[in-house]
Amino acid sequence: MNRNINQNTIIRRPEAVAPVAKVAPKSSTPTEPQCIIPDIIKPEPGAKVQVIAPGGLCEIGKNTWAIRCNDQIFLIDGGLAFPTEEMHGVDLVLPELTYLVENKEKIVGMIITHGHEDHIGGVSNILKSVDIPIIYGPPLAIGLLEGKLKEAGLLSKANMKRVKARETVTLGDFAITYVRNNHSIPDSFSLVIQTKAGIIVHSGDFKFDHTPVDGELFDIAALSEASSKGVTLLISDSTNAERSGFTPSEKAVFAKLEDVFVRATKRIIITTFASQVHRIKQILEIAQKYGRKVAIMGRSMLNIALVSRQLGYMQFPDGLIIRADEVSQLPLNKVVILTTGSQGEPLSALTRIANGTHKQLSILPGDSVIISATPIPGNERSVAATINALFARGADVIYGRDSGVHVSGHCSQEEQKIMLNLVRPKFFMPAHGEYRMLVRHGKLGEEVCGLPPENVFIMENGDVLEVTTETAAVVGEVPAGIIMVDSTREGSIGKDIVQDREKLSTQGLLNVIVTVSNGQIVAGPDVLFKGFVFGDAHESEEMSRSIKMKVSSFWEQLTDKSPEKAEAQIKTLIKDTLKALKQDPVIQVIILEASLV
Ligand SMILES: [Zn+2]
Ligand SMILES: [Zn+2]
Repeated sequence: MNRNINQNTIIRRPEAVAPVAKVAPKSSTPTEPQCIIPDIIKPEPGAKVQVIAPGGLCEIGKNTWAIRCNDQIFLIDGGLAFPTEEMHGVDLVLPELTYLVENKEKIVGMIITHGHEDHIGGVSNILKSVDIPIIYGPPLAIGLLEGKLKEAGLLSKANMKRVKARETVTLGDFAITYVRNNHSIPDSFSLVIQTKAGIIVHSGDFKFDHTPVDGELFDIAALSEASSKGVTLLISDSTNAERSGFTPSEKAVFAKLEDVFVRATKRIIITTFASQVHRIKQILEIAQKYGRKVAIMGRSMLNIALVSRQLGYMQFPDGLIIRADEVSQLPLNKVVILTTGSQGEPLSALTRIANGTHKQLSILPGDSVIISATPIPGNERSVAATINALFARGADVIYGRDSGVHVSGHCSQEEQKIMLNLVRPKFFMPAHGEYRMLVRHGKLGEEVCGLPPENVFIMENGDVLEVTTETAAVVGEVPAGIIMVDSTREGSIGKDIVQDREKLSTQGLLNVIVTVSNGQIVAGPDVLFKGFVFGDAHESEEMSRSIKMKVSSFWEQLTDKSPEKAEAQIKTLIKDTLKALKQDPVIQVIILEASLV
């Protein structure tokens, strides 16, 4: 087993130093073939490589991959997901790490593709559970990750190395070449992974943007070189598999945003994703052009803007950014408020501004509010509620696909076809999408590459895909549940707690308190309803009386009156009674010993 990180090397190709878009590649000659992907790992017939996603399949979020060959595993990304509406009080969702913990001795390193939360937000949790000898990533992603690890007190545990475009790193029996792509954050990469089972191309999150705002073009040459060597498996981004055509260039947003700046006579409030670095960069440029100062609301967004500036991915003068409390000192037409909350998150600044509950800012009639984002599936209702509230307070809200103030960072169908056509894989695994998106993307693989359906793998988290140079099959599964995090508590919370919260919000609570002494009831049972009623007040009273009587007579019959056992049995009794009435609240039974009262 190779756990010695000194054996992991980085090979720099000339193009890694000179950005692809800025320097035209030198024409190759027959004697001097241009090689982007150096042959490092020789495919071996029969060698098996397993591809497992502890998170990121059949969902958009918590992208985490484990690629295994014999006793070596390397990880690609370590992401988090945001909770669905049913996960009451849950702030973050992380992948279950049982598989990684059980195989922790085998982990040789981690490869980060880019700096989005759904790719780096779970790294600190992984580091808490297992050692990762080395983490490679692009400078911006590593810069953002450093901040997170520092906050979690894990920085000293992480050995991180920055990697540039066209650099190849080796991790044990794997060699991974970083291939620049386009996405909504700078420094985003696809991966060409050499394994003993041949080449695996992992697209990462991508689109093909021919006029990228940072001038860095997709390194199509590298993909085509991988293709010419023969690709065993393509893992590719399915986010927009339901969308036909091409995703427009990020640059198209500039003109649409500028239109709003030209028209607006009062304040401009813009919301986008905190990590949409290209968008934030464009907004700051336009604000500067039109003489407006920018207040950034939301710690994550401000942090990402400052890290991006520090690392040279964004330039803006000192003084452009102001504090929220300075907004009121400026004329209305000299202000931009850039805020998180594009998903209608209840605690975000935008939601609080929209609801009139923000301490410093409220909507003034005539404010222009730009929603420069689309709702992630599941967030549509909360985003719509925010937009309604903004309109109700007199704002002019610019939102929706037709407005042109947002474009996706992910490829649409035509770009997915280009990727498939460029790479021409033997086997194809759609990733980064909900089930229906994976299926739609899988169909494209069959149409475009003529792949037989049995060569397309629609997988779920934990499924184990085993590939050789000639074959691929799902050979089993590993545990791949979720860890839910409620930031108000230490550690993670269980499914039962979230189910109780869900029930409390929809079905209410029934509380029964019985005070006993020497096995006899001395007070109660007291019955308390919270959040639900039986018919009118009279009927509720009747029900309460009936429960009291049932519990009292049940108590007499109980042979084991120990509080723990009695509580459980009384709970079952009430549950059965209520079930017949089609009521299913959270039931809480408390037996108090009189001597302790
Ligand atoms: Zn991304
Ligand atoms: Zn992503």
